[in-house]
Amino acid sequence: MNVLVAGGGMIGAETASYLCVQCKEKVTIVEMLPDIANDMEGGIRDDLKDVLNKYFVKILTKTKLAGVTEQGALLDTGCETILYPCDTVVLAIGTKAYNPLEEELKGLCETVVVGDAITPRKAVKAVREGFVAGMNV
Ligand SMILES: Cc1cc2nc3c(=O)[nH]c(=O)nc-3n(C[C@H](O)[C@H](O)[C@H](O)COP(=O)(O)OP(=O)(O)OC[C@H]3O[C@@H](n4cnc5c(N)ncnc54)[C@H](O)[C@@H]3O)c2cc1C
Repeated sequence: MNVLVAGGGMIGAETASYLCVQCKEKVTIVEMLPDIANDMEGGIRDDLKDVLNKYFVKILTKTKLAGVTEQGALLDTGCETILYPCDTVVLAIGTKAYNPLEEELKGLCETVVVGDAITPRKAVKAVREGFVAGMNV
């Protein structure tokens, strides 16, 4: 299968490595910035890039996903829009909190919201907030 991962931040780049190493898929990453995984620490980012390189993941930077058709993805290179054949498109173009329970629990019991339910971040923040919430009950 040809998989296109749209978004080359930490989540897209890590997902791409999983797809090529574990699932043996042929993977392409599309990233609108000049480089991928800018939100990762240098050493880990270099290791991840080595894996992507080793498994022949194609990385298209300064390129945007502009749409999807039955034939494949439409990629905006800044100069032109090209059709890029693929079977699956993975969207890793941003995250947002999903927390419908908070509203449902209002008035029923004391509720403390922590972690990505507030806003998506890194695990260390979620762990810290959970720790503080636990200490305050
Ligand atoms: C691909 C990827 C890579 C990442 N890599 C890193 C990294 O390298 N370093 C880092 O620091 N952070 C990383 N993150 C971010 C990190 O995973 C999150 O910040 C962290 O997991 C948030 O913790 P959390 O407990 O708030 O939410 P989550 O880890 O999402 O846990 C929420 C849990 O609640 C469960 N749940 C949801 N609704 C209900 C319900 N109604 N009842 C019971 N259970 C429910 C869910 O199934 C889930 O298990 C990464 C995220 C992704 C997506």
